[in-house]
Amino acid sequence: MRAMVLTGPGELALDSVEQPAPSADQVLVHVTHSGICGTDYKIFNGSIPVHYPLIPGHEMAGEVVDPGGNAAFKSGDRVIIDPELYCGACFHCRIGQTHLCPKGKLLGRDVNGGFAEFVTAPATHVFPLPAAVDGRTAPMIQVLTTCLHAQRQVDIFAGETVVVLGLGVTGQLHVQLAKARGARVIGITRSAEKRKLAETLGADLTIAGGDDVVEKVREATEGRGADVIIETTGILAQLASAVPMVRFGGRILMFGIFTVKEGALPFYDLYFKELTLIGARVAKSEDYEASIALVQRGVVRFDPLVSDVMPFGELRTAIGMLGSDGAAGRMKIIIEHG
Ligand SMILES: [Zn+2]
Ligand SMILES: [Zn+2]
Repeated sequence: MRAMVLTGPGELALDSVEQPAPSADQVLVHVTHSGICGTDYKIFNGSIPVHYPLIPGHEMAGEVVDPGGNAAFKSGDRVIIDPELYCGACFHCRIGQTHLCPKGKLLGRDVNGGFAEFVTAPATHVFPLPAAVDGRTAPMIQVLTTCLHAQRQVDIFAGETVVVLGLGVTGQLHVQLAKARGARVIGITRSAEKRKLAETLGADLTIAGGDDVVEKVREATEGRGADVIIETTGILAQLASAVPMVRFGGRILMFGIFTVKEGALPFYDLYFKELTLIGARVAKSEDYEASIALVQRGVVRFDPLVSDVMPFGELRTAIGMLGSDGAAGRMKIIIEHG
């Protein structure tokens, strides 16, 4: 089969490799569409270490070719794949925290993923797509599950004010999810284009990122600050800015991935305002069913978040576009496998 094989940092090329054979508990899927994100770029350039050779790709949709021994599927079923594998037998898996399994593996990072003609996945990780869900944007369901899983960790009540910091793809998904929960949503970013997009997706108010942003959030919340801040950028200075932006007793959801290991935060204010800092990582099976339903019912829209659709043969170029200067202003890149 055709596959994009990574043989070293920056060394990604179209190659012909052996088609994977599904074991009894696996399903063989013909990949029709995949999405690429910052994680793929880091795997590509070597900043996330992997064993070579590797077929990357963890956001994928396709059609069942061989359901193996799994009666729940038949050939031709449209599906998406949950790429987060878990062992099923450890302490975390047994208490339902499969996403925290210490033996967990990611398709496209630890085992071969979806940048190929075919991929195998355990039947437990394959989810049927209803007719109303477009296969082209379906790889974004994986991204939505991570946002949904994160929002499950924080109580948001109807009428509360939620600030979303950063309005990239995940920020725009958080805007839509918080709106669906009945919140009043304020979106913050420097990009005028992304602010406009957030408004069309339901943000009640958007604010241009800058020096006076804390003041503007306070103005919009009767001087109190927002009830909840969802930080999506992973930039420590943004997290620090959330502290004066949130009300006393408020909650800060750390969705963006902070790779720094130390740095400055207004620690005294964390105590004095009695703030809750909430972490969230990846997603669980329950988030797939729920995310598919949200898209099927039109509660969450993917189409406006796609900035580029590219053919499979241009995947290397597409990943390169996520590098430093190409990333700005770019939203989701979808790959059509053809
Ligand atoms: Zn991703
Ligand atoms: Zn486990």
